[in-house]
Amino acid sequence: MNRGYAGFYKEYYLRSSYEYAYAFYLDYFSVPWSYEDQVFEIDGKSYKPDFFFYDQNGKLEKIVEIKSRNKEAKEKAEKRLLAIEKQCKIRTELISYEELKTLYKEMPFSLNAVINKWIDSEKTTINKAMEGILNPHFGLKHTEESKKLIGEHTQNLWNSNSVAKKRMIEGLRKSGLSQKGKIKTPREARHCMLCSNKYIVMKTSTRIYCSRECSGKVAIKLASDAYVKKRDFIHAEIRNYVIQWTMENKELVLATPFNKINSTIKPMMDEIHRRYNVKDIRVISKTVFGVDRGRKELLKFMKKLCSENVC
Ligand SMILES: [Zn+2]
Repeated sequence: MNRGYAGFYKEYYLRSSYEYAYAFYLDYFSVPWSYEDQVFEIDGKSYKPDFFFYDQNGKLEKIVEIKSRNKEAKEKAEKRLLAIEKQCKIRTELISYEELKTLYKEMPFSLNAVINKWIDSEKTTINKAMEGILNPHFGLKHTEESKKLIGEHTQNLWNSNSVAKKRMIEGLRKSGLSQKGKIKTPREARHCMLCSNKYIVMKTSTRIYCSRECSGKVAIKLASDAYVKKRDFIHAEIRNYVIQWTMENKELVLATPFNKINSTIKPMMDEIHRRYNVKDIRVISKTVFGVDRGRKELLKFMKKLCSENVC
């Protein structure tokens, strides 16, 4: 009952949007996979599961079947997968909408967005039911001999030179698993915290940026953010000190003529220099007004403070 949107993804002809969503998920995490590699013989019927996974030696490890949310179809598929588990001693998994939803929690894309992308793609067409009379295997009964052949086919696939085997090797080679039969430290795909580019790292890595360039940019930004914070804090402290000093020297401030500013505020300037390592009058003016307005305006401000606080 898999009436979905079928179409080509890579070299595979996928039969539903769920299958596409699953393949897309696997590729995102660089998991090598293969599609409809083998045919199984269950209760006299041949059965072709969807996704095949092999270990580093090319041994079939796991089979995944994708199903729609149709309850009946799911139950049938579950029975077939159980039979395969017994027959071949491998793991199987049935994946439908709910399972995909869970898998996509790790993804930076929503499941619905990926499905819609597939449905809207020009490469897809609506796929009719592939069960019953439309199934190419419908009504075909296998002879004892062909059953035996299918069983052998399953077991010996790796020893053959089939296209499926080439695909497996290619998938394993790309993932680095087949190199000298060694399993590398598991890798995973991540997205750069700065530029969102995808990169592959060991799962144990603490890296969160794709490149030195990106981490460098972030380091510079963090340093300048810290600098700005510190500077803003010091500026607020200087402003408070100007106010405090003015309050403590009210009479002097009020009595200072505008042509004698320097000598009056010199003790204040010296103290600001000592405390905050700032001696530029323009910077001090800026801490008070936000912009530099010069020493005359600064004295005006100080005098105003005094008269405001007199009462
Ligand atoms: Zn980056």
